[in-house]
Amino acid sequence: MADLDAAVIGSGPNGLAAAIALARAGRSVAVFEAAAEVGGGARSAELTLPGFVDDVCSAVHPMGILSPFFRELPLADHGLVWLRPRASVAHPMPDGRAVMLYRSLERTAAGLDADGSRYARLVRPFLDRPHELLADVMAPLRIPDHPLLMLRFGLRALLPASWLARLCFRRERARALFAGCAAHTVLPLSQPLTAALGLLFAITAHVEDWPVAQGGSRAISSALASYLRSLGGTIETNRRIERLDELPPARAVLFDTSPDQLARIAGDALPAGYRRRLARYRYGPGVFKLDWALDGPIPWQDPDCREASTVHVGGTLEEIAASERDMYRGRHSDHPFLILCQQSEFDGTRAPEGRHTGYAYCHVPHASTVDMANAIEAQVERFAPGFRDRVLARHAMNTAWFERYNPNYVGGAITGGVADALQLFNRPVTRLDPYSTPNPRLFICSAATPPGGGVHGQCGYWAAQSVLKRL
Ligand SMILES: Cc1cc2nc3c(=O)[nH]c(=O)nc-3n(C[C@H](O)[C@H](O)[C@H](O)COP(=O)(O)OP(=O)(O)OC[C@H]3O[C@@H](n4cnc5c(N)ncnc54)[C@H](O)[C@@H]3O)c2cc1C
Repeated sequence: MADLDAAVIGSGPNGLAAAIALARAGRSVAVFEAAAEVGGGARSAELTLPGFVDDVCSAVHPMGILSPFFRELPLADHGLVWLRPRASVAHPMPDGRAVMLYRSLERTAAGLDADGSRYARLVRPFLDRPHELLADVMAPLRIPDHPLLMLRFGLRALLPASWLARLCFRRERARALFAGCAAHTVLPLSQPLTAALGLLFAITAHVEDWPVAQGGSRAISSALASYLRSLGGTIETNRRIERLDELPPARAVLFDTSPDQLARIAGDALPAGYRRRLARYRYGPGVFKLDWALDGPIPWQDPDCREASTVHVGGTLEEIAASERDMYRGRHSDHPFLILCQQSEFDGTRAPEGRHTGYAYCHVPHASTVDMANAIEAQVERFAPGFRDRVLARHAMNTAWFERYNPNYVGGAITGGVADALQLFNRPVTRLDPYSTPNPRLFICSAATPPGGGVHGQCGYWAAQSVLKRL
């Protein structure tokens, strides 16, 4: 057999994206996946009861549908159907009335009372050319293609989310909506750059309704894998790679893995100094997740919540900020901020007729083994009285479960490592080309490289560009 151009370790969205980018450039490529199924963080399974399809990790995909690379690919021809909700986010407030994030800027602003015009002023400048902005944001640090647009975004993005929310808005509703979007960073909202995700998520919601994949997030991975095979790429599952010499001869090896696995698998093929730098990589907090089989929809106090694929459960900006600060300091909040998804509201394939799935997780300290099930259900019950009576079965996952499931989730960290100002672009180490290593044959393409976590494949795409330059 002739040498491969590239071998990819891991078939997460980034591993598959890297392989596709290489195959599209005419290169021979083979992917080796430890698990029985492709997909990494984009897989689905019957976690609760037979007939219920749960998303094991990723559930809602604003970055997937808007990813500059995925948008180029014929994924619909390979079975991917995005199902759009009627709203991207619902954010129930303590008074029972939810704040809604709709595709329509006007409709969203109308729900923000006196802050509506301020919200529109913050977001509107980015809606003329959102795809240009996303292409610059979802890339490694470089001279942007649209410098003025990026400057405008960057000046706001650099702020702590709690500052931007308080500077821009006077009322609780808009502040809470912004805080909920920003809390996806898994950082205290008082940290610089946390406004970036708050603003970016708000912008994406006015470009596309945050969709779920029909049949489960695994449909994204199956479509990527099917397209890769159509280009001549091969995928071997049940093939955990422990050492480089287990791979067939290949001119380049791409690691869709955590930095610690890159160091371990590559061993002496990487200089000791570089491995020491990889060992200093910060993974950050983990998550505790519940999936439910429900005998009906979630009985939200505000029925509008049923329109959204994602519900941010946590109340006011102050409550969300306290929950995120606590977990970052190693404590477990009694009132954790929840990211809750209700895929079956928009996808009839997820549960038997009349039944529903529910999915929610909260952030917890690194490697925590504390059972957060009660605290999570109490938070849902607060905004959806009677919720617990609808639960037919529940499935819980703590940080140890996640790390066993996928060794990339070190300590239960789900987004590839801390994405603070020091590590967002300098991941996995500070290097002009972050995808390359001191060994010209070895590359890293996982979410531990820019632009970081999420099912968007952009880390893989950019890593492939680095490989193509070398090849
Ligand atoms: C609970 C949870 C919820 C999330 N929610 C969302 C969401 O709603 N939307 C969103 O966009 N993102 C979400 N994410 C994040 C997203 O899933 C990840 O950021 C994304 O999957 C990272 O992709 P990746 O390709 O870098 O790595 P991964 O998806 O981690 O894939 C890595 C793959 O490599 C394999 N592998 C690892 N080591 C080896 C080895 N030694 N040999 C062979 N194979 C190996 C693994 O089995 C895995 O299949 C969520 C993640 C979790 C855990």
